[in-house]
Amino acid sequence: MTGPLSIISAIAQGRKAAEAIDRYLGGRGDISETLAQPEEEVVLKDRLVVMRRQEMTHLKPWERQDNFDQVEKGLSDAQIAAEASRCLECDARNFEVVVNTASCKECGYCAEVCQMEVFGPAAAFNARGYRPMEIKSSNWCVGCFKCFFSCPDFAIDVREKPASGRS
Ligand code: SF4
Ligand code: SF4
Repeated sequence: MTGPLSIISAIAQGRKAAEAIDRYLGGRGDISETLAQPEEEVVLKDRLVVMRRQEMTHLKPWERQDNFDQVEKGLSDAQIAAEASRCLECDARNFEVVVNTASCKECGYCAEVCQMEVFGPAAAFNARGYRPMEIKSSNWCVGCFKCFFSCPDFAIDVREKPASGRS
């Protein structure tokens, strides 16, 4: 129904189908189950050290003339080890997502690409007659920037918020 998507989306579609089957068979469509007990929120006290990506050696432009030598020389063993242990702080960074609702033309691309369901339709229409997207919660944003690059109207801004209470 949706074309190629992630495994998570496939599971979500499967659950929707299971709910529909349950309703068809006379149930309430409630297939919820507790697979794991809720855990207490983990508060990160100290910001992790940002490790920069390892730089790969490249052939200089003038070294690429008159030959078909490999341009990207790859990473050394030490660089591979450093890269493999590099923490991207995916869950320790906070982002703020902003939509310029006056510019939004309701194409829905942002909601389509955002796997974190940060976007939702606004309650009211804008001056141009579109029902713009608005932010449900920036707290769910992981800073992938897919929405930023997919908005044809440049209506989205994603900024990293300074870590509060962390150094
Ligand atoms: S940056 Fe990524 S996670 Fe954040 S709102 Fe945009 S698409 Fe969603
Ligand atoms: S991608 Fe941009 S124009 Fe399209 S709905 Fe989202 S904010 Fe609006």
